[in-house]
Amino acid sequence: MKKMDKKVLIADQINEKGIEELKDVAEVVSNFTISKEELLDVIEDFDAIIVRSRTKVTREVIEASNKLKIIARAGVGVDNVDVQAATERGVMVINAPESTSITVAEHTMGLILALSRKIAIADSSVKQGKWEKSKFMGIELNGKTLGVIGMGRIGSQVVTRSKAFGMDTIVYDPYITKKSASELGVTVVDLETLIKTSDVMTIHVPLTPETKHLIGKEQFAMMKENAFLVNCARGGIINEDDLYNALSNGKIRGAGLDVYENEPPKDSPLLGLDNVVLTPHIAASTSEAQRDAAIIVANEIKKVFKGQSPRNVINMPVLDPETFNTIKPYFELIEKIGRFMIQTAKGNINEINVTYCGELSEFTQHDILTRMILQEVLNPILTGPVNLVNATTVAENRGIIVTEGKRCDAKGYKSLIKVEMKSDHNDISVEGIFIQQKPKIVMINGYKVDVEPEGTMLISKYKDKPGIIGAIGTKIGEHGINIAKMQVGRKKLGGEAVMVLKVDQHVPDLVISEIKKLEDVHDAVAVNL
Ligand code: NAD
Repeated sequence: MKKMDKKVLIADQINEKGIEELKDVAEVVSNFTISKEELLDVIEDFDAIIVRSRTKVTREVIEASNKLKIIARAGVGVDNVDVQAATERGVMVINAPESTSITVAEHTMGLILALSRKIAIADSSVKQGKWEKSKFMGIELNGKTLGVIGMGRIGSQVVTRSKAFGMDTIVYDPYITKKSASELGVTVVDLETLIKTSDVMTIHVPLTPETKHLIGKEQFAMMKENAFLVNCARGGIINEDDLYNALSNGKIRGAGLDVYENEPPKDSPLLGLDNVVLTPHIAASTSEAQRDAAIIVANEIKKVFKGQSPRNVINMPVLDPETFNTIKPYFELIEKIGRFMIQTAKGNINEINVTYCGELSEFTQHDILTRMILQEVLNPILTGPVNLVNATTVAENRGIIVTEGKRCDAKGYKSLIKVEMKSDHNDISVEGIFIQQKPKIVMINGYKVDVEPEGTMLISKYKDKPGIIGAIGTKIGEHGINIAKMQVGRKKLGGEAVMVLKVDQHVPDLVISEIKKLEDVHDAVAVNL
């Protein structure tokens, strides 16, 4: 038998197909019951370890080996891996985020069918010895409108499947590109249109501050009387108290849930309703998803052994000290510019250009700073972690064109970073520097400013004429918001001007919309940095 250089330990039971994949590149040792102590003893011998949920790859385990290069989790979450410790030791942590997409999409379709044809409740009636045919009159999905909220990995699979049922599918996802929507042949609409138009609404977004209680009382009031709502994403995206009211008052026809605000939903009043179908967070549980996870991570390990780049590395590379020291001062600036960008973008992001000027243009590893921008821009809108290793791939997969340039005029500063972002409904350009140990924004959309990017900022665009600044100031004063600092930039007298107000309180959406309604105010947005 050929002697292999590489050794892989499979510490939890994974699908045999994944194990087979590895056998031509490595010596594979399977020990599905390995204890913590045994693992600490043997880990030094292995280049890679594959786990599911049982084995904990702790700091102690990671630090017990100088040879270990890859920790692979044959699944999505990496809660049982100390990613920080792995990153510090330069050990890649690999997962298989796409392995469950089809499985969850199929479960979603299952819940939709169970609702439209009352399958679960009819099943329970027959099992009670009843034959209540007229009670279980259903509806067809054919010709109905399906509203998909979030068109990532799972949402896209739901879209594809809905077509086989003859459904008209509309999508709300402010962060997808027109290209990916047109490739899937779906119409992208705003959330309100989706809610008002859908016969069936299904949620596939991550749980973020933006999506927390995305569907509540106000949205139920807008839904069609006969609509169904399905959630296989995360508990907390739907306000369950409001859902209960909507279901018990007949405001909507039914709901299918796999995820809950509290799991298990022991005392939830939803348990007592007939028009709900509930499953115990099993949307991702199929043998095929487990098989695919095993095959995906095995192939990723093979790639690394062959010197190729894996796709699903979730931690970042360790930088050499020289590189780290050169770019470190710009980390905060980049982070702030990225956060500024994603909060001011309107619609899906199509393009991001980053230009490095002055001394930074001579530095050859810009890529890492560009990845940092992508990380800041994409992390708030995606489920999986976006980091320095995977940022470019994630952006590419979302159809975002990322370009880098250098040698622009640093305008008298040592170095300057210019970031331009094109979204469906606006273009933003921000220039920043690092000076006196602090990041600073010096240009917004071609308007000169001098702003320390921190706290809450209100940015308004308006016609440069007497009274406008006062009107905006008065409006926010009326809402008890205190101005800490003010900056105004304009290109020419009487043209369009930009005002950046640093404020001491959060600026609610209501205040923004009132400012936008003021005469000669062209736009307003609040950002939290
Ligand atoms: P993904 O990151 O591939 O896609 C998420 C999509 O949501 C992205 O296209 C993003 O642009 C969009 N989005 C983000 N914020 C949005 C907003 N405010 N409004 C509309 N769209 C927004 O994620 P995925 O792998 O498709 O997972 C989707 C959801 O399914 C996640 O919540 C995930 O945790 C959940 N999930 C559940 C199970 C289960 O067992 N029930 C299993 C796997 C995944």
